[in-house]
Amino acid sequence: MKAIILGITLSTAFEFISLFPLWGLLSFNFKKLWERLDLRLMGLRWIILSILLSFFSWLMFSLTTWYPSEILGGISVLLLVAIIPSYSFILEPFYLLLFAPKEKDQEIEHWQNWVNTVQPNKISVVLLNKEINNLYATGILPFGKIILIGKPILKELEESEIQSFLMHEIGHLKENHLLILYVVNLLAAFLCVILHLLFAPPHEAGALINVAFGTVVGVSCMLIIPSLLQRFLEYRADRFAAQRVGQATYVQALNKLNEVSKGMMEKWALNYPRLHQRIAHVRKHT
Ligand SMILES: [Zn+2]
Repeated sequence: MKAIILGITLSTAFEFISLFPLWGLLSFNFKKLWERLDLRLMGLRWIILSILLSFFSWLMFSLTTWYPSEILGGISVLLLVAIIPSYSFILEPFYLLLFAPKEKDQEIEHWQNWVNTVQPNKISVVLLNKEINNLYATGILPFGKIILIGKPILKELEESEIQSFLMHEIGHLKENHLLILYVVNLLAAFLCVILHLLFAPPHEAGALINVAFGTVVGVSCMLIIPSLLQRFLEYRADRFAAQRVGQATYVQALNKLNEVSKGMMEKWALNYPRLHQRIAHVRKHT
């Protein structure tokens, strides 16, 4: 019972926390956030994570009761914190492939062929059936590598602009940025646990101090470290793409996407450089 409560709490907390960066970018406009959410994806993620987290919590509690040993306790906590990053980097891409719109979209087909000629190692191009002005790369396993294209991208961008951004996503996949992010996410989660084991204030210090310590350690390890790495990798993918499609074409594509997304790329985000920083970087390094 304790395990199920912990599992559901952790998975619910994860859903809430993961909403904040996007909500912040949308200036905390709830209506806009609602339009962009993929409820089916979120619901399924919540159910799977609740089950996995409950099971591993149960394992953790059982292991520490059956064999009271600090090492086993430590290992089971590490397994538990590894679940969320593992789910989003490994399992979720397969879900996206499975539920991708089945009818052959001609435009997607066209871009799939284009990606195949540029990068013959299988990368699937999938339409994101939502009003999202963006493209994403996801997946770290072979055959699970995907580029997702938001619907407005196909409507509002020119051929050369779409090529620029596909090249950016191919850069992420080719340089294994997602694998790097996954490993760093895992290490950061482990670091969080280790710091907690080593430095957490004693129980007598009071719940408030303990919660404050946990929050500072958690936010610095699991949010700041991966976000700064992601920022760096964005620059890498920009450089990869600009070297292939040409600096001028790439800069023009960035400006156009910013226009289409109503200036969203100039907004500050921890894990993303702003538009002018990206352009300056591309100009300096290509
Ligand atoms: Zn990127």
